Amino acid sequence: MRSAQADSAASRGADHWDQMDWPSLHRHVRGLQTRIAKAARDQDWRRVKALQRFLVNSYSAKALAVKRVTGNDGKRTPGVDGEVWTTPGAKWKAIQRLDSRGLRPQPLRRVYIPKRGSTTKKRPLGIPAMIDRAQQALHLQALEPVAETQADPHSYGFRRSRGTHDAINRVFTLLAREGAAPWILEGDIKGCFDHISHGWLKCHVPMDKKVLSAWLKAGFVESGKLFPTTAGTPQGGIASPTLANVALDGLEKALAERFGPTVAALNRSRVRLVRYADDFIITGTSKELLEREVKPLVEAFLAERGLELSPEKTTITHIAEGFDFLGQNVRKYGGKLLIKPSVKNVKAFLTDIRETIRVNLPAKQETLIDLLNPKIRGWANYHRHVVAKETFVWVDHYIWHALWRWARRRHPRKSRRWVRARYFRTQEFRHWVFAARARGYKDEPRTKVLFSAADVRIVRHVGVKSDANPFDPAWDDYFAQRQRTRVLQRLQNRRLLKQLWQQQDGKCLGCGQLIDESDRWHVLPVVPFQAGGTRSPTNLRMLHPTCHRRLRAAAGSLPGCAVLVHRPPSSGASSMLEPDTGPTRTSGS
Ligand SMILES: [Zn+2]
Repeated sequence: MRSAQADSAASRGADHWDQMDWPSLHRHVRGLQTRIAKAARDQDWRRVKALQRFLVNSYSAKALAVKRVTGNDGKRTPGVDGEVWTTPGAKWKAIQRLDSRGLRPQPLRRVYIPKRGSTTKKRPLGIPAMIDRAQQALHLQALEPVAETQADPHSYGFRRSRGTHDAINRVFTLLAREGAAPWILEGDIKGCFDHISHGWLKCHVPMDKKVLSAWLKAGFVESGKLFPTTAGTPQGGIASPTLANVALDGLEKALAERFGPTVAALNRSRVRLVRYADDFIITGTSKELLEREVKPLVEAFLAERGLELSPEKTTITHIAEGFDFLGQNVRKYGGKLLIKPSVKNVKAFLTDIRETIRVNLPAKQETLIDLLNPKIRGWANYHRHVVAKETFVWVDHYIWHALWRWARRRHPRKSRRWVRARYFRTQEFRHWVFAARARGYKDEPRTKVLFSAADVRIVRHVGVKSDANPFDPAWDDYFAQRQRTRVLQRLQNRRLLKQLWQQQDGKCLGCGQLIDESDRWHVLPVVPFQAGGTRSPTNLRMLHPTCHRRLRAAAGSLPGCAVLVHRPPSSGASSMLEPDTGPTRTSGS
């Protein structure tokens, strides 16, 4: 009897989850966030606090928090309690559990994963329990509007609507001009995420102090033993990058007060900061200035927060020598500034490609192309705003070589001619194109072609305005327009996706939110193919995978299988830039 009751409660929960009106939940939270941001701009801290409390106790914010942590890459990785929320019933129950009173974070489950670019070295990773991740997502919704409003104007990492391209664009603007600062301090903070002082965070982060201290001292469990945490942001949590940003914000202002209180002083010193998460550069007119005045100021600023510069990795370089920043190399050649993909970045990318080709020796050609294409496209898109054409051509050539060896090794007894005929084709004016004959819908024969980096057009990126605030409605049109341009640029060479995106005005059918190129999407027919539906864009729609599943469960009318799946380039260049904070990081959902 009891279990029957529990069952029916669970299925009611499942119904609730499936029938949730996401567009209106998003609107509600967004409205509150706008008010929080406004109160923060007005410095009305009592009001900020009250609104934040209201937001984290709202049903809408709780539902969105659960949706976020069950929709990202880490959703199947349990924390120390072994829990994952896969069913609509479990997700609905999680919303009810999300109450800040009495919710004590559990310690992180510590695992070791291979270090990037190494097969033997491992690094530790803390995985929070699902409920704690959801709680972080919940409180992040209240913290972000304040953090955004107070952020340094030229900080670009882990913020809404800003990214590496904007950071690089800023570097270009600062250094390209004649008479620009010739010296650059490259800052490297020693283990930033692990060492930030808890005391500092508790005093300065504008959020619920009780919840924050509970996160910070959650500790971690390794081999069944509990270890305390005494410093650093809560690893593996979605709030972690924002907490680190809050800690590092203010450096730009401190530098400006000291070196550029007047236009004349700023012109003399040319001290400017560009920061992406914990990675930053500071420009200056002379080596001495950076060494003797700027560096000590930065050190003092960091020391307050329990941080220090790594003496080996913090260097001062002349622009003629060049420096690497965010996977790019920035250097002046005879007075002309060129930004190119850095040698280290290209090497790491090609190592990944080579590895993929190597471990897939027995795989079908079609499968290998499916594995390589998103990597190549993602990497090339990352570098498409800099001087990368030559590198693209070279990279294509290198990959071609690796594939030729792959093909030869599969058929050691066959002639070169045979191998060429089997794996390579001539397409329009190009010879030796790596292409597979594959079967498409209804077994129609089609050709799957390897993506060529050189096909990516190099275009200038327009940097984000430094005072633009995504939580201020005055900037809504500005950000919508920017996103439009970006997505359409990224979808160059993908005619169908581009058309669908425009047809739906860039919005997901399920939740009404803008679909970004960094999201996953599914493309589905409205009238199923079996019922005579066509493959023309008029019969196709795009949705987030989670929205797809939900609509399908609710209406039962959508087909289970997507015609096309768009995956963001997660293994591309951008993921190499992320600080190591765990698998649950998302770029916003
Ligand atoms: Zn959606």
